[in-house]
Amino acid sequence: MDELLLVGGGIGGLAAALALGQQGSTSQLLEQAEVFMEVGAGIGLGPNALKRLNAWGLGPALQLRGFIPAQLQVRDAANGRSLGQLPMAHHFERRYGAPYMTIHRADLHKVLLDAVAAQGMAQCHLSHEVLHMQADAQGVQLVVRQPGQTQAPWQATAVLGTDGVGSVVRRQVWGGQGLRATRHWAYRSVIPRNLLPAVWREDDIGLWLGPRLHVVHYPVGGGEWLNLVVLLESEDHVEVPGWDHHRSPEQTSADLAMALRGTCSRLQDLVRMVEHWRAWALFDRDPLQSPSDMARGRVALLGDAAHPMLPYLAQGAGMAIEDADSLAMHWQQTGMSVEQRLLAYAQARWRRVARVQARARRNAQLFHATGATAWLRNLGMHMGGSVVMDMPWLYGR
Ligand SMILES: Cc1cc2nc3c(=O)[nH]c(=O)nc-3n(C[C@H](O)[C@H](O)[C@H](O)COP(=O)(O)OP(=O)(O)OC[C@H]3O[C@@H](n4cnc5c(N)ncnc54)[C@H](O)[C@@H]3O)c2cc1C
Repeated sequence: MDELLLVGGGIGGLAAALALGQQGSTSQLLEQAEVFMEVGAGIGLGPNALKRLNAWGLGPALQLRGFIPAQLQVRDAANGRSLGQLPMAHHFERRYGAPYMTIHRADLHKVLLDAVAAQGMAQCHLSHEVLHMQADAQGVQLVVRQPGQTQAPWQATAVLGTDGVGSVVRRQVWGGQGLRATRHWAYRSVIPRNLLPAVWREDDIGLWLGPRLHVVHYPVGGGEWLNLVVLLESEDHVEVPGWDHHRSPEQTSADLAMALRGTCSRLQDLVRMVEHWRAWALFDRDPLQSPSDMARGRVALLGDAAHPMLPYLAQGAGMAIEDADSLAMHWQQTGMSVEQRLLAYAQARWRRVARVQARARRNAQLFHATGATAWLRNLGMHMGGSVVMDMPWLYGR
């Protein structure tokens, strides 16, 4: 049977390995890091992602480390006034067949990794960094840096680039253009919930909207921690995506003070409780235009390698999980060539992902709006209530 070579063992790569295994397909996975690990903080998983994770048998493990928020509570960052609520928990379960879950990225990654190991269908190779690759009609040739810094040739029937926003697979096959430094930054941290005053211990997702800023918080770690993210716009920008861009304590304080100017003291007090922030410079790409943006010949892309997006719809990992599910389904089709199966996957996915990418960009304008636009946004939320915040087209799939 044809075997896929997966490049990258993040949430997308592990989800793909697991989904392929569920369909009876073995795979090889190359990960550049010495150990599997996830940094970062919390993420939200919509019912669209959670339904797939549950179908792969991960429900019980996720329940232990995840958290089911009662509702989304949107507030005006200037004065703390409520702008609207979207009931989640049971409401989502009834409507979409799964609730919305918040979870630490490291916990989600560990649940996926344990499941891949228990399933035994993927062979994982740590400390294997793909340096170059070339594909032709017969297969794909790769050069891989292996432990001890030796470079070795690898051959594969087909390659799936799951290597994230700075994807080497993408650069080698599609070229290096198009990644956009947005000048938006995410400052993230987690705080033990038992240290917080009662007002911050609600079981909600909090979303605070202000000029060129929004703040998101929700419980993770089974409810032990509050995940806090400040998303702001800054003149500073970096060329390379990645965690922990060096932001000195002075730069961090200056960025946060500038962004939070004019916000209410309740929000400022919460931000002041954080001792250590990690900064993430946000990159995205224009929405996909056609299936050939996701698959060419014997090479396909999945997750951030294919469609990095602003996290303003909280769906980057969700889309990677959906990609994985779709890829595994198409990969086991009989009577089709390798190229046809990868193309069928791309055809099934590109429009949906493009819509999510575009909506994430639109949310950037909406969330960070000023003046009349902000006023209209607030009025719309007030008049439309939960109807304008719910997204059946997104969560219902
Ligand atoms: C601030 C912020 C908040 C977010 N919030 C949410 C949210 O609420 N909900 C949501 O669904 N998503 C969210 N996301 C997005 C989500 O985190 C990403 O979309 C998701 O983690 C992408 O997973 P991935 O596996 O595609 O890429 P990555 O997680 O980047 O994994 C790529 C892997 O490939 C490896 N690799 C890279 N290059 C090579 C190479 N040459 N050879 C071998 N291995 C290689 C890397 O080491 C890494 O392990 C958020 C993102 C940010 C920045």
